[in-house]
Parts: sequence; C-alpha cells; structure tokens
Amino acid sequence: MVKQIQAVRGMNDSLPKDAAFWQYIESLLTQVLICYGYREIRLPIIEQTALFKRAIGKVTDIVAKEMYSFEDQNGDHITLRPEGTASCVRAGIEHGLLYQNIEQRLWYIGPMFRHERPQKGRYRQFHQLGAEVFGQQGPDIDAELIMLTVRWWQILGISEHVRLELNSIGSLENRARYHNALVTFLAQHETCLDDNNRRRMHTNPMRVLDTKNANIQVLLNDAPVLADYLDDDAHEHFVGLCKLLDEAKIDYTINPRLVRGLDYYNYTVLEWVTNRLGSQGTICAGGRYDRLVEQLGGRATPAIGMAIGLDRLVLLMQAVNTNSSVTLRVDAYLVAVGKNIQGAAMLLAEKIRDALPSLRLMTNCGGGSFKKQFSRADKCGASFALVLGESEAAAQQVVIKDLTTGNQETLAQNDIITRLALILG
Ligand code: ATP
Ligand code: MG
Repeated sequence: MVKQIQAVRGMNDSLPKDAAFWQYIESLLTQVLICYGYREIRLPIIEQTALFKRAIGKVTDIVAKEMYSFEDQNGDHITLRPEGTASCVRAGIEHGLLYQNIEQRLWYIGPMFRHERPQKGRYRQFHQLGAEVFGQQGPDIDAELIMLTVRWWQILGISEHVRLELNSIGSLENRARYHNALVTFLAQHETCLDDNNRRRMHTNPMRVLDTKNANIQVLLNDAPVLADYLDDDAHEHFVGLCKLLDEAKIDYTINPRLVRGLDYYNYTVLEWVTNRLGSQGTICAGGRYDRLVEQLGGRATPAIGMAIGLDRLVLLMQAVNTNSSVTLRVDAYLVAVGKNIQGAAMLLAEKIRDALPSLRLMTNCGGGSFKKQFSRADKCGASFALVLGESEAAAQQVVIKDLTTGNQETLAQNDIITRLALILG
C-alpha cells in the first residue's frame, strides 16, 4: 500500500456537515454587518513579511515566533497572513481609501495562519471574521461595533455564554511612560518571575499582565496600573464609550490587565470571552489603532477593528446549542429508469430548477435499478422522489412520491412545478 499523505498539523478539513454549519453561521454574521452598512473587502492571503513586522511589532509573539514566512522563487520575503488588520490597512492606503474624515466601514473573512501549539480552539490555520472602521475618532463608533457584536450573539443564541471585557490602554505615549514604570516594578521582583515572563519583561513587558501563572498574578496586584497613566483625552474617550454602553444597557467588565498582544492598539481594547472553552476562551477581540495607518505610510487616520475567531465560535455553539448542525437534506430526488431516459430526466430537472431556483433537487446519475435509486434518495434525506420511467417520459408525465407517507401521484410534467412550488410554500 502506498503511504497516505495527511493534512498538515494544526490545519483542519471542514467536512460537508461541518461546512454547512459554518456557512449558516457566516451568513447570519455577515448579514448583520451588511445591515449596519459595512462593506466586504477581499484581501490576499500572502503579504510581504515587512508588512506584519511593521504593523504588529517585532517583539510580539506573532512576529517573533508564529509566522509562516518564506522566501519565494524570486527571493521575496512573504508571509501567510497571521491576521487581517494589517492587510486591510495596506490595501486601504494602496487604493486611496483612507483619508481623515472619509469613513470606511469594512469587513473581511478568511483563513489566518500562526505556527502555534495546536490544541482545542487553537489551530495553525484558523478563521476570522473581522470588521474595521476608518476615519472615526469618537467613542460612538467603538460603541457601535460593540452593539453589533451584541446583536451577533443574540442572533446566534449565545448571549448568556459570553461577556465583554474592556480597557483603555491610552495613547502610545501614555503606554511608553507606563512601560517604564512597569519594567522598574518587574525588575524589583525579577526573582519571582518564571523564565517566560522574565523574557517578556525585557521584550514586551505589558504581556506579563496577561500571564496565566497564579503566583505572578498575585504579584501583579501591587504593580502600577495603566489607568493611572492615561492622559485626559484617553480618559475622556473611555468614559464616553462606557456612557454609551450604559445607555444601551450593555454589560461589560473593565479589566485593567487587558492589554492585547499586538503593538498597534491604543485607547479602547476589548475581548468577548466565554468560560465554556477552557483557556481558549476569547472568541472575539479588537481595539483602536489610530496610528497604524500612518505607521504603514498612509495619512493619519483614526481606526478601530475587531475579529471573531470563527473556529472558537463554532466550538462554543456546539458546546451550548443542541441544535448545532444544519440539515443537508434535499427536497426532491429525481429517479430515472429506462432506456435513453437520462437525457430527458436531466432536461426535466433543469426546467424545474429554472422555475424554482430555491428547490433543492438532486438528479440520479450513474443509472441503477428503481430500488437502488430510491435508496440513494433516502440517503440524501429527500422528502420527495420524482420518478421518470419510459412510460412517463413517453406521456410527458412524472410520478411524485412522498417518501414519508409513501403516497404517490402521476402528474403531467407541466404541472409538477406548480405542485412543487406548493410544497415548498
Ligand atoms: P490568544 O490570546 O487566544 O492567542 P490572540 O490575542 O492571539 O488570542 P487575536 O490576534 O486578537 O488573538 O485574534 C482574534 C481572535 O482570533 C482571538 O480572540 C481568537 O478567537 C482567534 N484566534 C487567534 N489565534 C487563534 C488560533 N491559533 N486558533 C484559533 N483561533 C484563534
Ligand atoms: Mg495568540
């Protein structure tokens, strides 16, 4: 036997049953975005490596150790995108979409790649649905994005299983000041840190705040608090956002240790978390990134964005929702038995599809006895069989059989469309 070739570790297939569920969720989510006036942008999966280094930051986990980067045949340095925001900004600048006071409300969907340790809810190819808004400075757009997510969870029926955590991490300047204070504090307690956090203290100290190590969490209770380093503008922006959320009666927790792992964030950062998925509990995350457009060579343009981790969302739906699969049934299966009958059957099927585009109609292919074809109709969950034999074809008729009751009736081919339309409702 020839050795089988398997999928790359951390990259999953989505088989038809799962794919149907994904498709269902994606259509609900994107419909909400469209209703809020957001427009889709489609971006390449590969970008120049320099884009992510500059946008995400060289000392972040993603850039330091998680990127799939290659040199191609021309010696160009390219990377499978680990996230969508950098590409979105790159495209916006490249095509002249981003100017101050010109608003863009955009969304994208697709696979992202990070070389992480695969486990439940953490894969090397995973999928995000992201929304990005450019050209809006005030907290009202931050609030709108949150309201939109609230609507997503309502529509999916998972509101009671997710909660919102918010923080303001101030301006880049505020953070630089805080950074120094935090490093001074951590250095004083260096012996209490584990290796990983000792390394982070030097490379990306704010990530220490994210630690899962309980001892270090206790130590951090005495650490300087970022909120004390915010300037008036940052503070006012955050208060404005909280007020809008309070008015909309949206629950949130302010988590002073929420800092996010990408360098480009400022002001508002947010995470939607669930306790149903163990340590992979963040299902949607984002924040403001008012300086990124400039940093990538565009004109200063305020911006905010967020992304759902769709793989985790699907896991959550499956964990809390007993009705988490979508039916793959077809409405009708066309059985055709007889000499030279296949052509007539396929023509009839096309005629029906012309008239009833939403009917799920499957045509038997590859011949077979009546018995065999009826068993295929059962397998694909058809509610009705349409049967075309030689005598029906000659008389321009077709039999319709209800596969639940077993009742059947012979109709003129011209009448079958009206009958099926009635059944479809
Ligand atoms: P985490 O802390 O879980 O690693 P992150 O901060 O790296 O997440 P973001 O870059 O903010 O994640 O991506 C937004 C969302 O995408 C996350 O909240 C999560 O739902 C999802 N996500 C990120 N990395 C993965 C992955 N490797 N596998 C599956 N989903 C992921
Ligand atoms: Mg990560």
